[in-house]
Amino acid sequence: MDIAGKKIVITGGGRGMGKQFALSMKELGAKPFVVDVIQENLDALKKETGIDGRVVDVTSEASVVSFFEEYVKDHGAPDVLVNNAGITSDGLFCREKEKEILKMSFDAWQKVIGVNLTGVFLCGREAAGQMIKAGVKGVIVNISSISRAGNLGQTNYSATKSAVDAMTVTWAKELSRYGIRVGAIAPGYINTEMVAKIRQDVLDKIIKQIPVGRLGDMKEIALAVRFIIENDFFTGRVIEVDGGMRI
Ligand code: NDP
Repeated sequence: MDIAGKKIVITGGGRGMGKQFALSMKELGAKPFVVDVIQENLDALKKETGIDGRVVDVTSEASVVSFFEEYVKDHGAPDVLVNNAGITSDGLFCREKEKEILKMSFDAWQKVIGVNLTGVFLCGREAAGQMIKAGVKGVIVNISSISRAGNLGQTNYSATKSAVDAMTVTWAKELSRYGIRVGAIAPGYINTEMVAKIRQDVLDKIIKQIPVGRLGDMKEIALAVRFIIENDFFTGRVIEVDGGMRI
């Protein structure tokens, strides 16, 4: 698919990698539109870049359904969805401290499942439905993670990211009959606010395990998004962009 002129919806695009995807796609001549939860970030994005956005909570079925209906009324069906919104809420699954059993809270589990799994499902489903209805041979790009392999302290996050990979393969099989392709990217540790939340001593240890010896840059992940959109033979697979690190 030629990116120029294409309508690209990016979830979680108010900041972080989603914002970078929107900027990179705009530079390539596309028409990005972002959804996110904080109005001020969307206002700042609009002011800074001219890119439009709307507050949509991807965990709410009603909000996601009505967003896609309204987006289609205003712009027509999207050509591309980048399912990027994601959160972490790390903690050990179960551990003992001074004879007390400490557990990952149900809230930490539900919150991460809500955004990273249910959100991806809902946005993917609605975008695909609108593409099929309009006969658009579109592309869905899901953002997975290196943690899909199962990472210490990330029971909730790792579970969602491996599920995102499974949905990518499933949707590619189901949607190929409509000419819709689905791919995913599993980034390693990227220089973002999400990674800035990691304790410095822990981060130093992580960087020592990255063969290229540094964190990734958001633009390097945007390049992978571009590859998936442009390469018409790519579907049902996950690209690892992680500086060679394996968890
Ligand atoms: P950020 O936290 O910087 O950005 C995520 C965006 O999603 C934020 O703007 C956030 O809003 C928004 N968001 C959160 N909840 C919702 C919701 N319910 N509905 C809509 N938007 C929501 O994350 P990153 O840019 O670092 O990560 C982007 C993606 O990449 C995620 O899926 C993440 O799992 C994945 N990833 C990141 C890596 C990294 O190194 N950073 C590595 C591997 C994968 P708010 O401003 O309120 O937080």
